[in-house]
Amino acid sequence: MSGSGLEEKVENMNLDERKAVEKKGCKHGQKTKKKDEQSVFPLELNPSPDFIQERIALFDQLKAEYDAKIEAMEKTPIKVTLRDGKIVDGLAWKTTPYEVATSISQGLADNTVVCKVNGEVFDLDRVLEGDCTLEFLKFEDEEGKAVFWHSSAHIMGEAMERHYGGHLCYGPPIEEGYYYDMFCDGRQVSSNDYPAIDTLTKSIVKEKQPFVRLEMTKEDLLEMFKYNEFKCRIIRNKVETPTTTVYRCGPLIDLCRGPHVRHTGKIKAMTVTKNSATYWEGNCEAESLQRIYGISFPNDKLMKEWKKFQEEAAKRDHRKLGRDHELFFFHDLSPGSCFFMPKGAHIYNTLINFIKEEYRKRGFQEVVSPNIYSTKLWETSGHWQHYSENMFSFEVEKEKYALKPMNCPGHW
Ligand SMILES: [Zn+2]
Repeated sequence: MSGSGLEEKVENMNLDERKAVEKKGCKHGQKTKKKDEQSVFPLELNPSPDFIQERIALFDQLKAEYDAKIEAMEKTPIKVTLRDGKIVDGLAWKTTPYEVATSISQGLADNTVVCKVNGEVFDLDRVLEGDCTLEFLKFEDEEGKAVFWHSSAHIMGEAMERHYGGHLCYGPPIEEGYYYDMFCDGRQVSSNDYPAIDTLTKSIVKEKQPFVRLEMTKEDLLEMFKYNEFKCRIIRNKVETPTTTVYRCGPLIDLCRGPHVRHTGKIKAMTVTKNSATYWEGNCEAESLQRIYGISFPNDKLMKEWKKFQEEAAKRDHRKLGRDHELFFFHDLSPGSCFFMPKGAHIYNTLINFIKEEYRKRGFQEVVSPNIYSTKLWETSGHWQHYSENMFSFEVEKEKYALKPMNCPGHW
């Protein structure tokens, strides 16, 4: 259910309205564009939103104080134990994991995405604080990949701020790639914007902007992000420690625990894949947000392979195969539920009969239970807290209900 209504609105706008938007910028803008037309929005807002410079000014001031504090720490000798048991000498508050990697080989340093210090993921350019174990992670490592995609989300976030002037919300890595949510009053993302975002991310990658970490107090964070109600909610409600970190790459300073790749140049290939509309924290009564998805790789070869795989997968798309083989089809009158044609219904019934027979063979009895339950059940089961964003819910006589998202009979 991804906001097809929104896209319609976007496409219904005429050229004059779009020009007006271009003049006024994101904030007062209306939706734009007809199908197949190039984006008429400028690549970057000019001037850029005030909050970008204000954020940098506070960052620079606090970073200078933070650097002085690190500089003043005593640089005592430490032992860094590598995965193979080898021990490397270093200095507390001075030696970085990247320096250790370089001392072993430049190839290792170049191919490492991020590292683990005493079992915790850690920036390669962050100073070590004492004796520790050190492990280097590559893109192929699960955690390395998550950091790589998470870092890519920052790059896309930077492009989104520069292009739309929106307020960034959450930007996590996902199973395949990453997304960033943005609140952008008055303008909605359309696929016509993708080239602009890709152009900006390419230039950000080219600039090799370092990811700079800074620890800040909650108070300073609330000051830094005062323009962004969503980051303020995260600071107020999610940050339980007196301090947490922000990371800067280029003009973007983002509330984030990190870690990240060393600099944006590490993300050699990246592209926007799709966009959708969503709600703040998946709550349909909260603000509506724009979500952009992307994917990235450390080299072009992996990106090409991924694209090829997507093409192959599209050929095997069940919606296409269902139609081609006259098995089933989908219709807007009941999106998400399929209409089985005679051949499809035959396969469907054969599978049902097969599974019923297997149940009986194994001594199971069957029950039949509802498909729709009050959200009270989903709160008890924990589905609501974790998956409500992806569940189909609706209100009937002032009570909220949701479709069953799983296969069990709804018992507990
Ligand atoms: Zn981050």
